[in-house]
Amino acid sequence: MKTIATLGSHCALQLLKGARDEGLRTLLVCLKKRANLYRRFRFIEKYVFVDRFDEVVKTDIQEELMREESILIPHGTLISEVGVDLVEKNLKVPIFGNRWILRWEADRVLKEKLMREAGLEAPSQLKPDEIDRLCIVKLPGAAGGRGYFLVSSSEEFNRAAERLMAAGLIKSVDELYIQEYCVGVPVYFQYFYSPLEDRLELLGIDRRYETTVDSIGRIPAKYQLESDIPLTYIVVGNIPLVLRESLLDEAYRIGEAFVEASKKHVPPGMIGPFCIEGVYTESGSFVPFEFSARIVAGTNLYIDGSPYSKLLYDEPMSMGRRIAREIRLGVERGELDKLLT
Ligand code: AMP
Repeated sequence: MKTIATLGSHCALQLLKGARDEGLRTLLVCLKKRANLYRRFRFIEKYVFVDRFDEVVKTDIQEELMREESILIPHGTLISEVGVDLVEKNLKVPIFGNRWILRWEADRVLKEKLMREAGLEAPSQLKPDEIDRLCIVKLPGAAGGRGYFLVSSSEEFNRAAERLMAAGLIKSVDELYIQEYCVGVPVYFQYFYSPLEDRLELLGIDRRYETTVDSIGRIPAKYQLESDIPLTYIVVGNIPLVLRESLLDEAYRIGEAFVEASKKHVPPGMIGPFCIEGVYTESGSFVPFEFSARIVAGTNLYIDGSPYSKLLYDEPMSMGRRIAREIRLGVERGELDKLLT
């Protein structure tokens, strides 16, 4: 029997609960300092303790995972704490999904390319001397909005860039990514693509709860101006969302276009969970600005299923459980090779 393994963070509880519900074995690569938390949950059967998550590529740890016939489920912590280089070159444990597409998520140039190929028009990128409207400036790395800031002129940008260089946060201005700010309400689509059924499923929708951006509106404008609170987008949680039903068809088309583009440009293409993130503007159009090529933490909302998963399944179907179901089907049909890289 296969073991579902993951790093103890991000959405590990959901993933391992889902695996257990599908009758698979569960293993957690757990930081020693988090043992107390994860020991509370009985669906975790086996632990491999580490001091740091990047130890997952150490030979003895990988051998232990292989002995258990583990399939590793990648999530945001694998990207941020282990990194795509080690995942591509040093991680021998099979991964559920396409490990090569993780680089396309982490690299802004590749990310934009894949989105363009999928017909997803992201807000335009500007050069420092082109800033003539409200722009959001993004720092390198998948840090979940940490350090992003807004500017509306080249002078303002140059001052901020100099401060960042003086603080040693960037080496050159070229590391900063300037994007037109899109006024709208954020919406995150949580998809699952099944290679076994050749079917896309929209399993949930959420929005993020970010500080300080979601807290500034809680104080009157007078104090906002006086206190000059820095705008940050640090995610502290997620809020469930349902979409107007008339927008659902477009949501499916967006996901399907992304799957098709990924097949063409990053073989074997998107496998399993992914997320497309953007805003709906005043004209009611969706402007995408990001994708995550793996499970997102917003799926933790729906451990017991979402309104959308309920329409597709007559049982509670979390993203974690959906992954485990696909793996179980892959084993039963002898088609696991279609799901792992
Ligand atoms: P990201 O790291 O790109 O997912 O962005 C973090 C947060 O920044 C998002 O959740 C949005 O709230 C905000 N954001 C990113 N890009 C834009 C944009 N072009 N326009 C408006 N808000 C954005």
